[in-house]
Amino acid sequence: MKTRRKTEQKKPIGKPNSSLASRISAFYTKMFAQWLTIVLVSVIIVVIGFSAFSQYYAVKPSIDILEKQTSVAEIAEVIQSNKDNFFSLINSDGRIIASSERLISENLVVYNIDYVGAQIHNKRVYVSIAKNYFLENQNLKLIIHFNITMMLIEIAIIGALAVLLFFISVLTIYIQGNYLTRKTFRLLDEFIEKANNISSQNLNLRLNVSNSTDELVELSMTFNRMMDRIESAYEKQKQFVSDASHELRTPIAVIQGYARMLERWGKDDKEILYESIEAINKEAKNMQDLVDKLLFIARNDKDTMVLVKDRFNMSVLMEEMVKDTLMLDTKRNIESQIEPDIYVNGDRDRIKQALRIFVDNAIKYTDEGGNISLRLEKDGENAVVSVIDNGKGISEKDLPNIFDRFYRVESSRERDKGGHGLGLAIAKIIVLRHGGRIKVSSKLGAGTRFRIYFPLN
Ligand code: ADP
Repeated sequence: MKTRRKTEQKKPIGKPNSSLASRISAFYTKMFAQWLTIVLVSVIIVVIGFSAFSQYYAVKPSIDILEKQTSVAEIAEVIQSNKDNFFSLINSDGRIIASSERLISENLVVYNIDYVGAQIHNKRVYVSIAKNYFLENQNLKLIIHFNITMMLIEIAIIGALAVLLFFISVLTIYIQGNYLTRKTFRLLDEFIEKANNISSQNLNLRLNVSNSTDELVELSMTFNRMMDRIESAYEKQKQFVSDASHELRTPIAVIQGYARMLERWGKDDKEILYESIEAINKEAKNMQDLVDKLLFIARNDKDTMVLVKDRFNMSVLMEEMVKDTLMLDTKRNIESQIEPDIYVNGDRDRIKQALRIFVDNAIKYTDEGGNISLRLEKDGENAVVSVIDNGKGISEKDLPNIFDRFYRVESSRERDKGGHGLGLAIAKIIVLRHGGRIKVSSKLGAGTRFRIYFPLN
């Protein structure tokens, strides 16, 4: 399997569009050749048809005159006086009785009553057909000779012109078509070249849309849009790794600092010893907390996070949350309004984890003595949890970003507030994975209200 993949990768890419261009112009050339042949054949058929008609109508008056004659001698006379070289009269032995011109040699014996033939006479080509007569007890045959020389010359000229036209057109179409198709497909060359050169170092490569022909503009734009998405996802990933490293660097530096302090003075100074142990523990816990959050996000990104969904009583969960919060925080006024028996289908632990983030933030960003309200109610098809505080609020500028990974409002970056700017990103992941949504409204200095919607079914 491995070897196969290697061979596939090594396969030279070449310039497939060139042969495609040739194939396309060859296709059009062939199509043109076919159409030209059809047109040529049709023109020839029309010329023949037209000639046949005109010849027939030219002969028709003479035939009418001949048919009015009552004796062989009269017929012979009419034929001989006819200067248009159209007729021969033959008796039952096949001997010529009369002829407009000596179209048929004296020796020619036409035994067969039905005669259709062609001959060249005096450098002219004739097609002859026979008409039977019974006159004066004789079986006679009137042969009508059609002069088709002009028609043949016309067909030859048309044919020669058509062949000439054919070669010129086919050559022009092939050369111009090839050129045009190659020009059209030049973008594909660029496309292949760019796609071959793309690596994590130059994700900013884009196709030049203005070079494209109409049909290929969409292709170039789609490629560029795809590259935009890849680049943005890659940039986010890079930013995430760099932010994560940055966040980890601080506790590591603190731990290293205390370790050095312990090394120097820890053995003798009990105060330094306890202070260092406490600080190292705190930072280790901080690191543990950060690593847990990073793992959670990574698992979600890799789509390996498993939710154990079940129908549970959300009202009971909210009651628990209120109880926990009252125990945890005695410095703010916690108020609650919980509609009983609201059931939701979801992963109870994960939903609790998400709600905990909102409640912890409310506590974190509300001064002592402030009010926090926790509510649960039904709103149409949703169970809605509201976490409302009258804390420091969030500015309009920061509000759209608070769910971004590692985003922290500048004033919240003080170390004593804790947090890594990952809480709301995690809460959002959990809510979205349950088909829910979050609404937030906030006013700087007045407070914040988060409304978290979970579908009831
Ligand atoms: P953190 O770990 O910093 O709290 P979060 O992702 O939970 O990270 O929150 C992101 C930012 O949103 C916080 O830094 C804070 O500035 C702001 N924020 C979140 N909840 C509140 C709130 N209830 N009141 C004011 N600001 C809040």
